[in-house]
Amino acid sequence: MYIDFHTHCDRKSPDLINLQTLHVTPELQVEELPNICSLGLHPWFIQLETWESAWLNLVDLAKLSQVVAIGECGLDRNIDLPLETQISIFQKHIKFAESLQKPIVIHCVRAFSELIALKKDTKSTVPWIIHGFNKKEEVFQRLLKHDFYFSFGAAILSDRSPILQAITTIPNNRFLLETDDRTDISIRQIYDRAAALRHVSREALQTQLIETYHQLTGLGLS
Ligand SMILES: [Zn+2]
Repeated sequence: MYIDFHTHCDRKSPDLINLQTLHVTPELQVEELPNICSLGLHPWFIQLETWESAWLNLVDLAKLSQVVAIGECGLDRNIDLPLETQISIFQKHIKFAESLQKPIVIHCVRAFSELIALKKDTKSTVPWIIHGFNKKEEVFQRLLKHDFYFSFGAAILSDRSPILQAITTIPNNRFLLETDDRTDISIRQIYDRAAALRHVSREALQTQLIETYHQLTGLGLS
């Protein structure tokens, strides 16, 4: 069994757990939710006029059992939306995830210090998973020390990626794998590359990531 921990694509296969992430709008309906999904307000798509009604819809929908995580949500210093606004909306996600005891899937661009500060200040007890992580070793080590989890994607396929060291050395129970918005790659390629870098078999990696997935999402092994 493969797990694509963060994808924007609706893929179906008997050997795949496809954790599809959706940006919640005020209009999103329960009928549109995939069997397994993660819901949040993505910083790229937050609109000042509509985000509050989108938020109310999110609060309603995210209580459903098929919603196994909150996000993607987070902070992005490269967009126009002021960082203070992003932080206050992200704080709502943190509080909400805590009340539901569901993990948070994080989008973070050039705001890792703020992210670490928020994790400390909020004393959140749910897992924080940084998706699409692709930063240098020093940032990785800092985040690892602060108990973050990671989801690695297409970046590990490149021989020049700054995270090759991270994917090779990270402890077994601290990461998952993803395709994100890449429709041109499959999660199998990511697994094969991760298994090769970590010198384990694909089967061993599959077993390990299933365990991590259940540990993070609190789902039973059934
Ligand atoms: Zn994404």
